Amino acid sequence: MATSTASSPNSLLFHQSSSRKSSSLAIPSSLRLSKPSSLSLRRISCTAVTTPLSVSSSSASTGRVFNFAAGPAILPESVILEAQAELFNYQGSGMSIMEMSHRSKEFDYVIKKAESDLRSLLSISDDYSVLFLQGGATTQFAAVPLNLCASPDSTADFIVTGSWGDKAFKEAQKFCKPNLIWSGKAEKYTKIPSFDSLQQSPDARYLHICANETIHGVEFKDYPTPANKDTILVADMSSNFCSKPVDVSRFGVIYAGAQKNVGPSGVTIVIVRKDLIGNAQPITPVMLDYKTHADTLSLYNTPPCFAIYICGLVFADLLKKGGLAEVEKINAKKAGLLYDTIDASGGYYVCPVEKSVRSLMNVPFTLRQSELEKTFIAEASKEDMVQLKGHRSVGGMRASIYNAMPLAGVEKLVAFMKDFQARNP
Ligand code: PMP
Repeated sequence: MATSTASSPNSLLFHQSSSRKSSSLAIPSSLRLSKPSSLSLRRISCTAVTTPLSVSSSSASTGRVFNFAAGPAILPESVILEAQAELFNYQGSGMSIMEMSHRSKEFDYVIKKAESDLRSLLSISDDYSVLFLQGGATTQFAAVPLNLCASPDSTADFIVTGSWGDKAFKEAQKFCKPNLIWSGKAEKYTKIPSFDSLQQSPDARYLHICANETIHGVEFKDYPTPANKDTILVADMSSNFCSKPVDVSRFGVIYAGAQKNVGPSGVTIVIVRKDLIGNAQPITPVMLDYKTHADTLSLYNTPPCFAIYICGLVFADLLKKGGLAEVEKINAKKAGLLYDTIDASGGYYVCPVEKSVRSLMNVPFTLRQSELEKTFIAEASKEDMVQLKGHRSVGGMRASIYNAMPLAGVEKLVAFMKDFQARNP
């Protein structure tokens, strides 16, 4: 089997880190990589995989479907194949990455490279720590107030634009005094408020948003600026993480479960400004204290090694695709196709979300004749387009079209939608 270093994700890292000019984007010294000797020249580039799979389309011959699930969700085929190729004997180590110590030189390289590539993708400066944690984004609903509010009497503001923001708000009630400064619940979570109209609390420790509501398909296109300069902007970016460039410097904390855009379930990524670390409430469990993980480069205890490894492959793949600005263009094209089809259907398909805040990642829609929705989902599934059922709390359909969903998948879905409408007027 051919090997390559020139085109491998490893070599990509070394090129990027050495060519980086801005000191604010410099890779922290703790992250400088020393490549284990067993890795040199042994990395198999994904082009070396001989399995005759097209990375852009599903087909009966590969047995792969177009998976529109909201998460765990579709991953790039090239990443799955690369993981498969090195699953049995990782980089000549004689074992799989799943069997390896998290303190091994191989895993040390994997986690540092994943962090380094993520820093490149999002231009994360050295003022921030990047943590690979467990417990899902749900655990962050508690960890954020525990870390940011030194006292349980501290206040925090919440803009709630869907079910996930609501869950974060409710969990925060146990650890601080959160204020609900805006809720879209009465309008069934179809809107985002204008920021000028918000009555922010002058003493709020942080302002929390969910950047993309996975169930309702509502996405912030811009972010509010806290009224008080000491208030920290916090975002749950679980379902649009790495789908577009983000100015990280506007946030104190960004957190995201990996299982939508960047990996399998089991790892949650937290990007936290370093000056916010180290002030957790005394009751904070050691595993929820950001300091625990920042001080140990996410290796305080056994991390979710395999999930971090896959995230690393995804980050390298995103860099290879040209970075997040390129990825965003494709995402906008895919989402545009789908929303245009819905809007041009004469009310046959309906997306309830206000146009200006429609998500590029999760597209909820209903059928005017709701009794046909089951048939729609069943027929689509027969055509290898699966997991289109809407969340149980809202019904209808939802097409999650994360980074890894090929354009061909969305083209096939819109062709099916038009055909379905023609057959069931
Ligand atoms: N926030 C958002 C926006 C989500 O979509 C989800 C999961 N679907 C969560 C939080 C909860 O994540 P987890 O299951 O990883 O705890």
